[in-house]
Amino acid sequence: MPSPLLDIQKLSVNYGGIQALQAIDLVIQAGEVVTLIGANGAGKTTTLRAISRLIGVRDGHIFYNGKNITRQRAHAVVKLGIAHSPEGRRILARQTVLDNLQLGAYTRSDRLGIKADIEQQFLTFPRLSERRHQLAGTLSGGEQQMLAIARALMSRPKLLLLDEPSLGLAPTIVRELFTSIQTLHTAGVTILLVEQNANLALQYANRGYVLEAGYITLTGNAAELLSDDRVKQAYLG
Ligand code: ATP
Repeated sequence: MPSPLLDIQKLSVNYGGIQALQAIDLVIQAGEVVTLIGANGAGKTTTLRAISRLIGVRDGHIFYNGKNITRQRAHAVVKLGIAHSPEGRRILARQTVLDNLQLGAYTRSDRLGIKADIEQQFLTFPRLSERRHQLAGTLSGGEQQMLAIARALMSRPKLLLLDEPSLGLAPTIVRELFTSIQTLHTAGVTILLVEQNANLALQYANRGYVLEAGYITLTGNAAELLSDDRVKQAYLG
């Protein structure tokens, strides 16, 4: 087994008195799509925020490519190749699609490479291409989600953290979005996908982890989890 791209060991995170993550272990190999499923408040977003160093860690370690990043700054982990597309999209509504993409490349200075990568995002997300000069705030929900992901990709990540990409989107748009996510996977991007829609996530993922009240309670390959009675009962409706 090669050494993992991401190796989380006994990670604990608190918000004041609230224990959001309780000594979780999670491993991602390069090239995998791994999904984290769980109910509201289970700690999924907290896990992504800890990896991208947006919140402090109480205990445990996060190794990325063999390097201990547990105490690194957020911009440093972007430079190392970790990008985060947050829940709720967080795009800049008063800037154009192009401006938002430029912003995603803030850690880079290779102008030609940035230009080429913007065109690459337009190939992956054709809807954004047609709307490149449009203000981001006037895009539909699905288009804003695509922009959030495309912006995250502008840092040329090896590991993409996706928080609830399907939230609030119509089923046809969700399918389109997941086709694009599949394209990214095929192109070699490793993905950690947080989804409320466990059924959908497990169709696209190689493996999954179930998070309950801050604990990892189950892990396995996607097919195993899809047929697991506990997963069916709690998450597949
Ligand atoms: P959701 O699907 O609702 O986003 P989640 O699984 O992503 O849920 P988290 O957002 O990681 O869950 O929250 C985990 C726990 O930490 C919850 O009990 C939540 O109320 C708490 N929490 C999250 N952010 C904060 C914060 N900034 N301050 C205090 N408590 C927080």
